[in-house]
Amino acid sequence: MTHEDTDSAAARLSEIAAYFREHPVTGPLEGHATTVTAAAPMRIGTLDYLTATVREVADHTRTANPDAGPLPERLQDVYTWMREHTEHAPEDVQVRADAIEYRQWLEHCLEAGDHETVRRQVRQQPCPKCGCWGLMWMQEHREAYCTNPECTDRDGFSTHLSLARLAHVHATANRKVRQARAT
Ligand SMILES: [Zn+2]
Repeated sequence: MTHEDTDSAAARLSEIAAYFREHPVTGPLEGHATTVTAAAPMRIGTLDYLTATVREVADHTRTANPDAGPLPERLQDVYTWMREHTEHAPEDVQVRADAIEYRQWLEHCLEAGDHETVRRQVRQQPCPKCGCWGLMWMQEHREAYCTNPECTDRDGFSTHLSLARLAHVHATANRKVRQARAT
């Protein structure tokens, strides 16, 4: 991935997991809202969030490589595990693995309430439709939109990009850059 080694999907996942361990939520949540600190940026669905995160990585890896074996012991090592077990997979499988890791990194940032990092990443990406550098992050909608007034859909609405689409475009572009460097 191109983002700094100090900030990665693995590092963010590790933070969320650590937070979850320190602030365990046990039993049915209804009626126990007082056990969750209001100032805490983590949502009470953290366990579901962590489970879904790992499941997506595991599903993709095992579909590509049924011999991948058990998940690593440490939660945050799932990305390394996915990369190791898909490195000989077809191109599209590897791009998808990159896209999952990148998108989950952004999702972990949002989960921790860090919209600024996501905003910064979105600004560093050209619009896949018109190629301009005018993408803006819309926090409430969890989507990016293109500020180029010419860049609209058939109904005249601005081009919108989900996190999944942004990640796919990012992963595809990254791979092309790496291939160009390798040749
Ligand atoms: Zn555009």
